[in-house]
Amino acid sequence: MDKTSSFSIHKGKPIRCKAALCRKAREALVMEEIQVDPPQAYEVRIKIICTSLCHTDVTFWKLDSGPLARFPRILGHESVGLVESVGEHVDGFKQGDVVLPVFHPNCEECKDCKSSKSNWCARYANDSISNTRRYGMASRFKDSTGEDIHHFLFVSSFSEYTVVDIAHLVKISPDIPVQKAALLSCGVSTGVGAAWKVANVEEGSTVAVFGLGAVGLAAAEGARLRGAAKIIGVDLNPDKFELGKKFGFTDFVNPTLCGEKKVSEVIKEMTGGGVDYSFECVGLPSILSEAFISTRTGSGKTVMLGMGKHAAPISLGSFDLLSGRTICGSLFGGLKSKLDIPVLVDHYLKKELNLDSFITHELKFQEINKAFELLEEGKTLRCIIWMDN
Ligand code: NAD
Ligand code: ZN
Repeated sequence: MDKTSSFSIHKGKPIRCKAALCRKAREALVMEEIQVDPPQAYEVRIKIICTSLCHTDVTFWKLDSGPLARFPRILGHESVGLVESVGEHVDGFKQGDVVLPVFHPNCEECKDCKSSKSNWCARYANDSISNTRRYGMASRFKDSTGEDIHHFLFVSSFSEYTVVDIAHLVKISPDIPVQKAALLSCGVSTGVGAAWKVANVEEGSTVAVFGLGAVGLAAAEGARLRGAAKIIGVDLNPDKFELGKKFGFTDFVNPTLCGEKKVSEVIKEMTGGGVDYSFECVGLPSILSEAFISTRTGSGKTVMLGMGKHAAPISLGSFDLLSGRTICGSLFGGLKSKLDIPVLVDHYLKKELNLDSFITHELKFQEINKAFELLEEGKTLRCIIWMDN
């Protein structure tokens, strides 16, 4: 079957298609027909095959004030698509390629992209406000009245078609099933990368993960693959404990069952003084400080992955820091998308990386609001949403 033949008729022209629009904070997404403009220079228009829902979508769906709260908007940033057409100066992508959009940029040319020190693309990563990477507030989406629709995290995958800058796009092997690949577009890569690249967990170490959503379970999966000896999960939802065993968790702590003790005290007792590494995967400052003091004095390391609202300040005890613990945060688990996603795909194809257990639900595009309910109720890890055709 020629997957690409139906695409070419739209090259250089707008496409009309369905998108799930967020018109107002906390209101159900509405299916509308929209117009998707052709890609400009350095951009690619892609046909989304499937997308999934990450907690960051929910956080922005609820956000009703500040410069990041913008409506109407097309949310969604974990997905896989096929290249429909490319703009000028696009090398390395062609019609029909299977691609993964990634919210975190990787221009491959700036000082930081060329260095192995971090995944912070100096050229682009400081701008999280614009709609399109190189064109500021210019949008490629219009509703039926001609009004511009805002992009989200440079991806906007809750649409049958979207336009993505090449700094946010990775070509992947067609051998990996698309619904598994979609997980690597954000949540799972973030967790696995945090254990591998940011914490650099070593064999025999002890780990605590706060928040057992897809990001936290992926951090455990990364730690398991690195040979961690003890991986403690902390979550209020007891259902997550059973699930966690598939990802290498050896112990669980339910904060509501700790009585007078703090979670950090319980973890210190379980590990003879604290874990070597802790990961905050909820997005609450109070949990971050518990994660921090759960680590060993002298050498403990905490990685913050959760994304709270309005970039709230955090508070740490100064002596807890003076006593040799370190803490850092990370977007996209320290991974450089173009370099590291193909490595994760390879690990999956070699049956080393467990992606299968993250997919707990699959829905049709028109059922997308159900995915929000399931995630909010803590009933799903990742819900794959299939575009209709
Ligand atoms: P999720 O909703 O699937 O999981 C969150 C988990 O935290 C749930 O299991 C929930 O029961 C648990 N939880 C909530 N309150 C808790 C508490 N007080 N104590 C212990 N556990 C608690 O979310 P997710 O998709 O896995 O995302 C997790 C976080 O990571 C979000 O804040 C998201 O925005 C963020 N995130 C960050 C990056 C990054 O690049 N740093 C990437 C993706 C997601
Ligand atoms: Zn995400």
